[in-house]
Amino acid sequence: MSMFKDIPVDVGVIYEGQRIRRNDMQAEFGGPSVKEKFELARVKPMDEVEDGKVTIIGPDIKDLKEGGSYPLGILVEAAGPTLDQSLEGVIERRIHGYLNYIEGVMHLNQRYDIWIRLSKKSFQKGLTSFEPIGKVLCRLFKSELPIIEKVQVTFITDPAKVSEFYPEAMQAYESRDAKARGLKDEDVDKFYGCTLCQSFAPTHVCVITPQRYSNCGAISWFDAKASSNIDPKGPVFAIDPGQLINAEKGEWSGVDEAVRKRSMGEVNQVWLYTAFGHPLTSCGCFEAVAFYIPEVDGLGVVNRSFKGAAVNGLPFSTLADSTAGGRQVDGFHGLSIEYMRSQKFLSADGGWNRVVWLPKEVKERVKDFIPTDLVDKIATEENATTVDALKAFLKDKNHPVVARWTAQEAPAAPAPEAEAVEVKEEAAGTMMPVATAASLPIMAGGFKIILKDAKIYANKVIIQTVKSDTDQR
Ligand code: SF4
Repeated sequence: MSMFKDIPVDVGVIYEGQRIRRNDMQAEFGGPSVKEKFELARVKPMDEVEDGKVTIIGPDIKDLKEGGSYPLGILVEAAGPTLDQSLEGVIERRIHGYLNYIEGVMHLNQRYDIWIRLSKKSFQKGLTSFEPIGKVLCRLFKSELPIIEKVQVTFITDPAKVSEFYPEAMQAYESRDAKARGLKDEDVDKFYGCTLCQSFAPTHVCVITPQRYSNCGAISWFDAKASSNIDPKGPVFAIDPGQLINAEKGEWSGVDEAVRKRSMGEVNQVWLYTAFGHPLTSCGCFEAVAFYIPEVDGLGVVNRSFKGAAVNGLPFSTLADSTAGGRQVDGFHGLSIEYMRSQKFLSADGGWNRVVWLPKEVKERVKDFIPTDLVDKIATEENATTVDALKAFLKDKNHPVVARWTAQEAPAAPAPEAEAVEVKEEAAGTMMPVATAASLPIMAGGFKIILKDAKIYANKVIIQTVKSDTDQR
């Protein structure tokens, strides 16, 4: 784009979805090994914003040791005659997309969970400072959201300053989320959808209602409403819910139709309040995963920052891989922490009555929203680290799932769906299909191509063991 002539690397939608492996990274900011990190947008009075100004507090990229992980705070301050605080969430979520437009910059997740990598290749091309990165952000904000008249960006890498600012960021997220609490799905005549994560998960569509918060935990129903109003052609769009098909599971005709259209026919039916059957698709930047534990007929929840294995022996990364990529996987479900505060939190599955295990940190955060008589009946890593120990704990506490054990045989485990790709042995001298897939998403040249019911032929198949993305990070 001509507006980025002075930027040392290319900028464009073609780079969305790029992955940067650990070996190829110059440095990373945030991510699992860094405790405090954040990105925050603030709407300010016009005279408090200097348009285009980029500030770096702490060491710049070129001053940091190659291959290291560092704390980072990104503060975007915007002003405009018609801008107000209700748009802060909308502006903030755009940081994700805009940073991913920069060649050699990978941005994952949101808010206090950000994870940014800069490639060695782009560093060698001259991307050695936050200054050009800030310039790209400022220019994209103004060109894509004309409602913004002035914008300035601050990058904080000084660990002490990140810590100093961190509580303010957390407070801002909490006030934003609190605003949407109390409103019910039946009180509104519009739901919203978001496809921002399709660059990473091409068939993913988030459906955002007052009681079904976005997977990433960064877009409330109010944020989505504001976003679709100021940028109707953007990634967030209004959905007319249409006819209520199933009140218990949360199915509406208009939602099914919108998801079918936006997933290009890949997902035809969505139940908003369950992890089973036709759950909302999971992209990759969800804050937590709900997972079915067949031995106790209950659901566990593990969040991204939980270190170690969940009670079923699997770490977050493995559970996330079981459901990510825009798929609906029975019994495995990406979700946000804020959704756990909703009365519709997996309500079709029994809600909190069905939750048997979650990390202590998450339990503390959502404690006020768990029915009082259940709080002590839900185990954390301090009570159970194996399924056997969990079973004993639940029995001892008389958790509601115990009644299900006697009432019915525990259903068979819905195994995490393996990649829907089946590799077959090549028959000598014939062109056998070597891979088939229900849907195979490919990103190329800024286009998304989905091969439905594909059969792939090849002369040679090389199978190598590779670490998953999450392992390599
Ligand atoms: S998780 Fe959902 S709401 Fe959040 S950015 Fe991705 S698609 Fe949008």
